[in-house]
Order: sequence, then structure tokens, then C-alpha cells
Amino acid sequence: MSRQVTVVTGGSRGIGAATCVRLARDGHDLVLGYVSDGVAAERVSEEVMAAGARCVTVRADTSDEAGVERIFDTAAAEFGTVTGLVNNAGVTGPLGPFADVSTEDLRRVVEVNLLGYLLCCRRAVREMRRGGGGAIVNVSSAAATLGSPGEYVHYAATKAAVDTLTVGLAKELGPDGIRVNAVSPGITETDMHAAMGAPDRPAQAAGRIPLGRAGRPEEISGAISWLLSADASYTSGTVLRVAGGM
Ligand code: NAP
Repeated sequence: MSRQVTVVTGGSRGIGAATCVRLARDGHDLVLGYVSDGVAAERVSEEVMAAGARCVTVRADTSDEAGVERIFDTAAAEFGTVTGLVNNAGVTGPLGPFADVSTEDLRRVVEVNLLGYLLCCRRAVREMRRGGGGAIVNVSSAAATLGSPGEYVHYAATKAAVDTLTVGLAKELGPDGIRVNAVSPGITETDMHAAMGAPDRPAQAAGRIPLGRAGRPEEISGAISWLLSADASYTSGTVLRVAGGM
């Protein structure tokens, strides 16, 4: 069986890195996008190749159209037709009340989490139409339905938009043989919490999570891989919550 060719944005760390390694084992060749941490990207790439997959890393900001085009141009040049996209690169800005969020942080969160996902979906759809089908997984968040008051309502709003994007695109693209789904993680142990100024957040949140702990990136990546697999061939337009019961 020929290997799938999948673009993973934000593949250098956290959920994206775990997803790259899982997808490599599950038969995907990978285009791994990252924005700044080249050392981490190369480390993940080595792990992916050790699992028997081909991998190319591309440094590009997904909120920038030229960057997104470069990711997909590289994919086409190196591996041919793209069959999968994991839209994963995301940011939150600092944790805190909505009234305190700077305009700069509002703009950055919307541009990376929403515009970036839109740009990646658009280019992926153009590729997949040419190739006769494919599958997209948008990494959303349980925040989309929780609202995240006092923490990052603006981030939650972008993730709710990702859920709507998923449902709408699934309906629009079904006739083209393109499936579109989302995975909504709950609090997961990654660098994202330190970046928002709260490195202990996963441990502190454990008491309010029904399963009693934060998730691990490897517990999210399995859901993503399943949605890209033949086992999910009749699954489209779903938002799969992987949030420990939250
Ligand atoms: P993370 O550990 O902070 O990693 C973020 C990844 O995104 C890195 O690979 C980073 O690249 C990349 N990235 C950030 N901004 C980018 C940009 N503008 N262009 C391209 N790449 C960019 O994050 P994570 O926790 O794994 O989160 C991954 C996804 O899961 C996000 O969409 C997030 O919203 C969602 N999520 C996370 C949690 C959680 O608790 N962790 C919960 C729900 C949903 P560099 O390494 O180069 O910086």
C-alpha cells in the first residue's frame, strides 16, 4: 500500500510532535511545519525517520500566506500529492482576564489560530481536489465549548470558529472525497502552558478534570491518526473531544 503524505503544522513540539511520530508509525510520510524551534523540529524528524517514514521540515509562519504556500510547495516537490493535513499550530497569548489582553495578542491569536487554519485548509483542499480526495484534522480545543472565562476567552473564540470551519468544510467537500474533522483536546501536558505564563497549569487543573489528570500528547495523537485512517472512512464533520471527561 502506498504511504499517505501528510502536512502537520506545529510538528516540532507538544501535540504536533507526538502526532508526527504516531503518523509515521501508521504509514504516513510527513511534512513537518514549525516557526522557530529548528532543533526540536530536527529531533522529531529523526524520530519520524527512525520509524521508517520520509520527513521534511519547513520553517514557516502559518499566519503568513507565503509561508503556507511554501509548506505545501515543499510537500508537492518532495513527496507528490498531499493526502492529509493536521492543522495544529496554535498560540494562546498570556493567561488572564479578557479586558487585559493587548491588541497585539488578540491579533496574533486570531491570525495564527484562525487565519492560519483557513490558509492551510484552502491550499490543502486545492491539492486534495487535484488528487481525488484526502482528509483534514483541525486541532481545536475543549475551550471552544467551555469559553475559558478569566483565562483566554479570545483563544476559545478562535477554537469555536475552528469547529464551525470543520462542520462547514465537511459538508462542502464531501462530494470531492475530502473528509474534515476536528479533535478537541482538554488540558494537555505541553510547553503551551509555560508560554502562557502558567507552567504548573496541567497539575493544578487535575482536580477539575473527571479523569483526575491532564492529558499527554500521545493520548491526543491517536485520535488524530484514527481520523486520518481508513477506519474513519465514513467519519466527516465530527468534533472529537479528547479531554478526560471535561
Ligand atoms: P506547543 O507545545 O506550544 O507547540 C506549539 C507548536 O506550534 C510548535 O511546534 C510551534 O513551533 C508551532 N507554532 C506556533 N506558532 C506558529 C506559527 N505562527 N506558525 C507555525 N507554527 C507555529 O502547543 P500544543 O500544546 O502542542 O498545542 C497544539 C495545538 O493543540 C494548538 O492548536 C492548541 O491550541 C491545541 N490545544 C492544546 C491544549 C493544551 O493543553 N496543550 C489543549 C487544547 C488544545 P515552534 O516549536 O517552532 O515554536
